[in-house]
Amino acid sequence: MIEFYDFKREYNELKNEIHKKINNVLRSGNFIEGNEVKNFESQFSNYIGTKYGIGVNSGSDALYMAIKALDIGEGDEVITPSQTFISTVDAISRNMAIPTFVDVDPDTFCIDTSLIESKITEKTRAIIAVHLYGHPAEMDSIVKIAKKNNLFIIEDCAQAHGARYKGMRVGSMGDIGCFSFYPVKNLGAYGDGGFINLNDEYLSEKIRMMHNYGQSKKNHHDFVGINSRLDELQAAILNVKLEYLDYWNKLRNNLANIYNVRIDGSLYKIPIVKEYVDHAYHMYVIRSCKRDEIKRYLLKNNIQSMIHYPIPVHKQKAYINLGIHDKLPQTEEICNEILSLPMNPWIKNYEVEKICEILNNCGENNE
Ligand SMILES: *Cc1c(COP(=O)(O)O)cnc(C)c1O
Repeated sequence: MIEFYDFKREYNELKNEIHKKINNVLRSGNFIEGNEVKNFESQFSNYIGTKYGIGVNSGSDALYMAIKALDIGEGDEVITPSQTFISTVDAISRNMAIPTFVDVDPDTFCIDTSLIESKITEKTRAIIAVHLYGHPAEMDSIVKIAKKNNLFIIEDCAQAHGARYKGMRVGSMGDIGCFSFYPVKNLGAYGDGGFINLNDEYLSEKIRMMHNYGQSKKNHHDFVGINSRLDELQAAILNVKLEYLDYWNKLRNNLANIYNVRIDGSLYKIPIVKEYVDHAYHMYVIRSCKRDEIKRYLLKNNIQSMIHYPIPVHKQKAYINLGIHDKLPQTEEICNEILSLPMNPWIKNYEVEKICEILNNCGENNE
């Protein structure tokens, strides 16, 4: 079986380093707000290219606190794609703000920037740019629209650790960059974790207090906060794994090249990549109108594949009450055609070659 993500392979390569780090934390007796977190915050914000960085409990909390710190709340509107993981939109709703969905560019699966301005009202406060599957959203246009309309930009980088747009790392181009370290992400912890990147000192201090019960100093709580911290054990693991991130992203790109060359382009639509981005290939997503059939055929041939995501956010039960009548034609078409093929640093070249061969056979047999 070629698994979608085989953690046993990852663990076997990293276990010596990680056990050493974990043992150090256990021996130190310091589990919250220690040196591992401090080091990781400085290393990762440096890697992304922002002045400040705050480790938090999850990508979802990072997005929630980003919106809250910008004082976006009841009655405000936030622009977001619906073609994303639901957590992007939940962060808006948890702040009592209203998501305004914008369709996506069918080439990159990221927000279609030509459609943003028609959705801006006097209540619009921010745009969330989701760098979906590891392909950066069209940041030049997003920055221009945000400036012109006085909107904040929050980057959802949960699928794009290390990706670059015109040389800039995602997470450094908006007002606040949000990351997730959910285990299968390009940089993943062995549990939950998240991160906030930013350059604004005031916002940084505010979020630092917010993620720690609104505490300014011991026993002093200046506003109602939450508990959403990255812990020492996860930070220790992330400190080990951050060293490998660029190398792993390179391996992902190598595998993507094999897929690109070997998959029969007359049978499947392969990903389109803008020439000025460095793709992080969190996912390698092909399109076919026979998607479900192909998924079954792959599984019959011992290959796992997945769908990210089969139901767009605006069609989820949780959001039906918003009464979205606007059509999102690309989003609604894409969800029936997309298929994520195995993509991670632990897959071997020959396995990808095998997947391509089986895919091409399946396509032909279906003619
Ligand atoms: C994973 C993910 C999140 C949520 O991160 P968690 O750490 O699981 O809370 C948010 N947005 C996107 C696009 C994601 O892929």
